[in-house]
Amino acid sequence: MLKQNLQKLQQHPTPLYVYNISLLRQTLQKAKEESAKYNYHVHYALKANANAPILDEVRALGFGADCVSGNEVKRAIENGFSPERVVFAGVGKSDEEINYALDQDIFCFNCESSHEMIVLNELAEKKDRTARIALRINPNVNANTHKYITTGLEENKFGINAWELESVIALLETLPNLQLIGIHFHIGSQITDLSVFKNLCTRVNEFQEWFEARKIQLEHINVGGGLGVDYYNPEQQPIPDFEAYFGLFNQFLELRPGQQVHFELGRALVAQCGTLVSKVLYIKKGISTNFAILDAGMTELIRPALYQSYHKIENLTSNKQEERYDVVGPICESSDCFGKAVMLPETERGDLVAIHTAGAYGEVMSSAYNLRDKAAALYLN
Ligand SMILES: *Cc1c(COP(=O)(O)O)cnc(C)c1O
Repeated sequence: MLKQNLQKLQQHPTPLYVYNISLLRQTLQKAKEESAKYNYHVHYALKANANAPILDEVRALGFGADCVSGNEVKRAIENGFSPERVVFAGVGKSDEEINYALDQDIFCFNCESSHEMIVLNELAEKKDRTARIALRINPNVNANTHKYITTGLEENKFGINAWELESVIALLETLPNLQLIGIHFHIGSQITDLSVFKNLCTRVNEFQEWFEARKIQLEHINVGGGLGVDYYNPEQQPIPDFEAYFGLFNQFLELRPGQQVHFELGRALVAQCGTLVSKVLYIKKGISTNFAILDAGMTELIRPALYQSYHKIENLTSNKQEERYDVVGPICESSDCFGKAVMLPETERGDLVAIHTAGAYGEVMSSAYNLRDKAAALYLN
């Protein structure tokens, strides 16, 4: 796809984020189709990529929005997502963020602590409103993923722990401006072992019984996101196995009549459609390996530096004999490295290099460290 567009790419300054909109559409369509089989609601997690052209595609297919900051709520609404389809999570919602979301009358606040519930009730009362809430419960399920993207263990800061639930329910009785409509879970990201989601279903079923025993009705069950993508074989497997993913929840979640199930997918929807394209600035001879020094760095794509994550790297312009390179960026940090001992065709100054699967948690996480300019984005159909 990129090689067919080389001429176009060469006209643009680098580093450059390139988005394959037709792959994005196919991915969204597949997710829509598979989730629709069970009438599931899918909310797109804006934090993965909040570029307007990406959001336009997501919204056009009828997804809702999952937000983790006031500005994300704002971006979603300004982009045309209906407030009725916006959910808002996060352990540290500020008063300003809450007030904005209350004014917009969003569908649901996913509450992460009793303290947050007290503040939300106070702010809702001042506006003479009722806030719909779901309790974000920490199910203590191990996502078997990198520790920085594991969120569902008791040691993590996210959600309400099972042993706090009794007191949270008692507290709720004293908070008239909150309306409990459901429970919410999100256990981590880049989960490729589907049995993790089966464990989540088992825990959700146990919590459902707990609430039922207390005669509390839950209309909405939100199981969060976290479905992983194949960073190693982006071309062979560009679309995640949504059929297996949604099918698993259908098989293992025990629902009560009328209950609605919600998902919050980010990475699985947008990761593969984005590529970071960079130019080789210099080649430097090392002891056991050469360095290919790119004009993109951790300021454009921080995932390798932050989570030691793998991204497939491809030289788009050379087809010479393969050699071994450490592919690094220009930033003054040793962690500014996209890959060690990467086999690439002999690479020289001016070559274009693609860093694949960068559509999620790529451009959104870019920074101005070293006073770097923001990379441009190009959308290809
Ligand atoms: C980040 C996040 C998501 C999306 O996670 P992905 O791994 O990108 O699917 C969903 N829900 C919440 C609450 C999140 O914080």
